[in-house]
Amino acid sequence: MVKKVFIKTFGCQMNERDSEIMSQILSTHGYAESHDMESADLVILNTCTIRAKAEQKVMSMLGALRKIKVQRPGMKICVAGCVAQQEGDHLLQRMPHVDLVLGTQNIYDLGTYIDRVAGTDRPVVATTMSKAFRIPAFLPADRKNSEPADELYSFKRFVTIMQGCDNYCSYCVVPYTRGREISRRAQDVVEEVRKLVAQGVREVTLLGQNVNSYGRKLNGTALPCTFPELLHQVAEIRGLQRLRFTTSHPKDLSDELIGCFRDIAILCPQFHLPVQSGSDAVLKRMNRHYTIANYLERVEALFSCRPDLALTTDIIVGFPGETDDDFALTMDLLERVRFHGSFSFKYSDRPGVRSCDFDGKISEEVKSERLAIFQRRQDEISLARNSAYVGSLLEIMIERTSENAFQGRTGTNHIVHVDEKTDLAPGDLLEVEIVHAGQHSLKGKVDSMH
Ligand code: SAM
Ligand code: SF4
Repeated sequence: MVKKVFIKTFGCQMNERDSEIMSQILSTHGYAESHDMESADLVILNTCTIRAKAEQKVMSMLGALRKIKVQRPGMKICVAGCVAQQEGDHLLQRMPHVDLVLGTQNIYDLGTYIDRVAGTDRPVVATTMSKAFRIPAFLPADRKNSEPADELYSFKRFVTIMQGCDNYCSYCVVPYTRGREISRRAQDVVEEVRKLVAQGVREVTLLGQNVNSYGRKLNGTALPCTFPELLHQVAEIRGLQRLRFTTSHPKDLSDELIGCFRDIAILCPQFHLPVQSGSDAVLKRMNRHYTIANYLERVEALFSCRPDLALTTDIIVGFPGETDDDFALTMDLLERVRFHGSFSFKYSDRPGVRSCDFDGKISEEVKSERLAIFQRRQDEISLARNSAYVGSLLEIMIERTSENAFQGRTGTNHIVHVDEKTDLAPGDLLEVEIVHAGQHSLKGKVDSMH
């Protein structure tokens, strides 16, 4: 009998891709994916620990699962990903109802571990991390049985091109939870995208913590390949209509990569370039290895190559020692660059990272105040940026359809809602006229264009 697995993914797109891999492995071990946690035979929480809040969410879900497991003792619970890697054995002391703790480099062996915990009450902890770790050449299966019922899934997918990070930004837990940076072989990445396209996928996002250092440390005996070279190789795959990537570190953003926005037609005009702070003093303590002058120079180069680019960023407010003047510099940067959008966070101490020991911790109250000021202004700027699209024609890829409406996404990564019927299907491209702008999305119409 086919067993049911419920997978809950927290955090970043890499975790989403890892969840797909786990689902695929389980499909060869007698499991099909289910959307009902309470009746599942196996529950996997694929976790994130980037900020304290992310970890708290995982812990509260594990609390809820404890009660369900009292009613259904046969249910197996697996904690995978970054919380698993960070906590290891300790997690079992806090959460004894967990059956399997699976680290970030161990997910490829999920099948073996699931067999090991089946039929026993003895928990297993698999969180070994090795400098010699290589990312297996893992190809996506033809997902029929286990495919989640999501239209998006059929035409756009994430492809992980590297794991880990060597940058050691002083606030960040990623190098500890995801290990040292390692890139996949270019031929494996190309093969994976080719297979996805053959299954009907039209848009692919290449994922890495710092894609610009792709190829510096390659799997085994792979041939040398830089990130811009990889982009060119992937873009040549026939049938692929849109290509995106994330994330790029400002210190490594090369002219070659910027040039790809001019040379590769299917590369979407969207760029995520996390700056973190507008103050050079804070950036130095963050161990970011660039100044605001460097950052602005790169931004200018990007816009001169691709004027229609939509630029987004990440900001941390309330980093230890951040003064009112430092924060004012972040606000000043926002005015100068006028990011199309941003993800902004209150600084949060993470176990084992260097900034935990820094002086000048900022109170929650001040962090919340600064975050609110930043976000309020960003929303105004996003609205002004979005309003500039009103009256223009933009190509969207349709993402969801309903009886009398549909929504799609522009190359700049803006959602466009259209209140009209369509015969087109998710994944189809269509030009729409933008008629209204909101802070986080646009409205379009096709009607009058025919
Ligand atoms: N690799 C990317 C980079 O270099 O920017 C992003 C990594 S991280 C998954 C995503 C974002 O989380 C970071 O850009 C940063 O803004 C935020 N972040 C990381 N650690 C944090 C912390 N301790 N407190 C608050 N925000 C944090
Ligand atoms: Fe974390 Fe910095 Fe690496 Fe990004 S580059 S994952 S912020 S250590």
